[in-house]
Amino acid sequence: MNIYGDKFQKHSDVCEQCRNHPSDLCPTGLAALLESMSDEVENLNDFSNKFQDHSDVCEQCRRHPFDLCPTGFSALLESIPQHINSLALDSELVMHHSNADSDRLAADMTELAYRFRGSLLGALLGDVIGAVVEAESPGYIRNAYGSVEDILAETEIPEALGNPPWRVGRYTDDTQMMISVAEWLIEDESLSSRDLLQRFSQACDPSRRYGPGTEAILRKFPANEEQWQSLSRMSFPQGSYGNGSAMRVAPVGLCFHRDFDGLASASAASSRPTHCHPLAYQGALLQSSAVAAAVRMEKIDENLFLRALRIGLARHAADKGQDTTVFWEALDVVEDGIRTGTAIDEMARRLGTGTAALKSVPMALFCFLANSDSYADTIQAAVFAGGDTDTIAAMAGAIAGAHLGEQAIPSHWLAEVREDKHGPDWFRELASRLFHRFTTDN
Ligand SMILES: [Mg+2]
Repeated sequence: MNIYGDKFQKHSDVCEQCRNHPSDLCPTGLAALLESMSDEVENLNDFSNKFQDHSDVCEQCRRHPFDLCPTGFSALLESIPQHINSLALDSELVMHHSNADSDRLAADMTELAYRFRGSLLGALLGDVIGAVVEAESPGYIRNAYGSVEDILAETEIPEALGNPPWRVGRYTDDTQMMISVAEWLIEDESLSSRDLLQRFSQACDPSRRYGPGTEAILRKFPANEEQWQSLSRMSFPQGSYGNGSAMRVAPVGLCFHRDFDGLASASAASSRPTHCHPLAYQGALLQSSAVAAAVRMEKIDENLFLRALRIGLARHAADKGQDTTVFWEALDVVEDGIRTGTAIDEMARRLGTGTAALKSVPMALFCFLANSDSYADTIQAAVFAGGDTDTIAAMAGAIAGAHLGEQAIPSHWLAEVREDKHGPDWFRELASRLFHRFTTDN
């Protein structure tokens, strides 16, 4: 869909200002854009009635129109026509790809390929580093290690429950399952949850430290293929709200970074096999949206970035009828932490670093937003905050890599990945296949 309208597209083909600065259009460009939106703008009258109904009973939205409550924000978005909704999202993300300049487009595509590779390698490396100190406290980690290099200098560490020692340099379930999601996106046209569950089950390697609920689902799937949907409620009647679906969803953010509906749909389909609680769906959506926003933004503006995530969350609430207050408030905490420059330890206390999606996803977002110009600093923050370090670092690393590209990832860290079959070069190839899938569809 050409969301800008043909008239505007023709104008931008000959106007450098509008092509290169979509948030600062020239008067002719602005007029062309508004003209192409005129039909939808007329429909906006409906919005005022819907929003008015809500604000009659909501003091927050009545008194603070620039700081709406989640319900007010949903009412606003629900009534905005899809066309303008997409336009708003794109303008928030400062997207400006134009077919008029083929050299620049080619350069953009090269940069985009770097970002795809950066995201998968960034997730892999975050997982590998975080795995060494998984479930430890910040105090323990700081006493034991002075830097990420110190962590990677370990060769093996004792494993719980009498299992063989953990060999440093291996990745955990986060990366193992992310591989399955990427291959599912590349190879499966229908993107069915059942097919993804089959992939997860076939790829399951218990030595990768799966959560017990997920591992039980993957073990039982082969004998229960017909009842696969009931497996996700086997351990938790309401479904798991762990971070197990957010930790593996980065490829969805990459593949659908220009298509929010596709992103929302694939994100939910990828969560369903093992994590069907509303908070798990929302966590996966926030993480995939964050990867998408990171890929698209030229430079990170924390407020625009968080607003884009809120738009996605509010649209999800409107589409699915889910209460998104918990994540909305967690984004408030992230936003406040960024604005006030709050230290990482204090943010870990406020947000939490546990395995629930509602704690670890916002924590990963903060680790990235507080260090958005440095992959190394993002990972350092995530790993030294303690808790579910492999997953928080994998998620923060996927976002940082998606924004900064492969070149931002320290090569001497990557050299410490010790995997026989799936080393960094294999992930580069996987990212290239994913990129090919993206360019084929767009
Ligand atoms: Mg893990």
